[in-house]
Amino acid sequence: MGRKKTLTCRRWDCEEAPFLGGLCEAHHEEDRLKQLARRAAIDALSTSCIAGKLPEKPGLKDELLRVIRWWDKACLAVNAGRQDNVLLDETQYAPEWCIAFADAIIQEEMNFRQGLDDDATVAFLKKDTWTRFEHLEAGFMSNGVKRPGC
Ligand SMILES: [Zn+2]
Repeated sequence: MGRKKTLTCRRWDCEEAPFLGGLCEAHHEEDRLKQLARRAAIDALSTSCIAGKLPEKPGLKDELLRVIRWWDKACLAVNAGRQDNVLLDETQYAPEWCIAFADAIIQEEMNFRQGLDDDATVAFLKKDTWTRFEHLEAGFMSNGVKRPGC
């Protein structure tokens, strides 16, 4: 892969002219939407609310509250600069899992409020996240592998 000679979008595979922050207009917009989604996810984790209301889809509020417990636990440890007693060396990654999970719940809830069908990728991501936390609670690494030396 040769170095780019002309000034183009920061994305390595994009040849468009930069628009803002080194990104072309389309990629800048993509980044902006990602940031908005991230903020909404963190907001849901902090307030238990999605777009100002508790989740209305049956079961979703419980799932959100369950992930918030992990979020609080992980953030407490990260902010204190220590490992969580369950998350151990994966403590630093857990907040990102929670954000991705909240993002999925937001999509699910918004689909529900609009009367749309469930999204299969959302269900998959949620199951994947619970499996990780269940592995950790059982004393394994999040991927289900036994910890070295255990
Ligand atoms: Zn681009």
